[in-house]
Amino acid sequence: VLTATGLTFLAVAAGAGYFLAGRAMVPIKEAFQRQKAFVADASHELRTPLSVIQSSIEVVEAEEADRLSLFSQQVLADLRDEVGRMTRLISDLLTLARADTEAGAMKFASMDMAAIVAQVVRRFRPAAEKAGIQLMLWGSPVQDEREYAAMNDTTDETGGPAHIPMMLWGDKERLTQLLYILLDNAIKYTPEGGQVQVNLVAQKQGIQERALLTVKDSGIGIAPEQQAHVFERFYRVDKARSRESGGTGLGLAIAHWIVTAHQGTIGLESTLNEGTTFQVCLPMGKHGKEKPTGFDV
Ligand code: ADP
Repeated sequence: VLTATGLTFLAVAAGAGYFLAGRAMVPIKEAFQRQKAFVADASHELRTPLSVIQSSIEVVEAEEADRLSLFSQQVLADLRDEVGRMTRLISDLLTLARADTEAGAMKFASMDMAAIVAQVVRRFRPAAEKAGIQLMLWGSPVQDEREYAAMNDTTDETGGPAHIPMMLWGDKERLTQLLYILLDNAIKYTPEGGQVQVNLVAQKQGIQERALLTVKDSGIGIAPEQQAHVFERFYRVDKARSRESGGTGLGLAIAHWIVTAHQGTIGLESTLNEGTTFQVCLPMGKHGKEKPTGFDV
């Protein structure tokens, strides 16, 4: 015999079942999208106040420096570093939140990968020099971008020094970002006196041609059990070391996203205390949904 209470209970239970089994599944997908949009919006909104704080600190540092105690100067310098780190973190979060949305879509075009490699590597020369690291490109020590251009009359259309072009189908800005991440890490995790070597070669794989980029360092290395995790968001082998050198733990997650979007692969080989080599393999032929004109492979 069903009492009124029993009926109500059944109705509620059925309602809950419907909600859990049927209706809730659709909103979960929506909730993920909304959460992503929230992270993207929040990151975007946080950038403005942070840049205001940054410039305020710089103004005080520039105009009040001689009136401030050593202690206050140190506090300001620490503040500036932390704001810088937070700005990087927010910009990385924004990149990842946009990664699988339209705003993160790659702008594919025919581009010269060798030009990007040469340009980015030369930009890192001052940082490498400061860290006491020898930077090598295509097997020779790297010269400063401007010095090199001045020595060589021949410059290419990007304004950079001449090189052997390697055309591929890619997003110039994102591949530049990929190189920044890999070079920044190689220098960060290599002690003074070490070496970082960058190379780019074309390889045939069946009928396909691919570009193989390697960034090899003689640094601290990554233990075998950690190697599979370094592409995860916020994964850091040594949090203190990463933090100290301004890391966000998001660089390699972004690198992985960029390479995957180019239908390529990224991997690493590493030996503790000997060094790490990151290898990026990119297809050179046209791929992806976009079909801009003027590309001939
Ligand atoms: P981070 O901002 O901390 O450098 P990444 O996502 O770029 O974050 O890298 C994740 C972690 O992988 C780093 O914290 C570091 O422990 C390790 N790692 C990355 N590149 C190297 C490298 N070239 N040599 C040694 N360890 C590395």
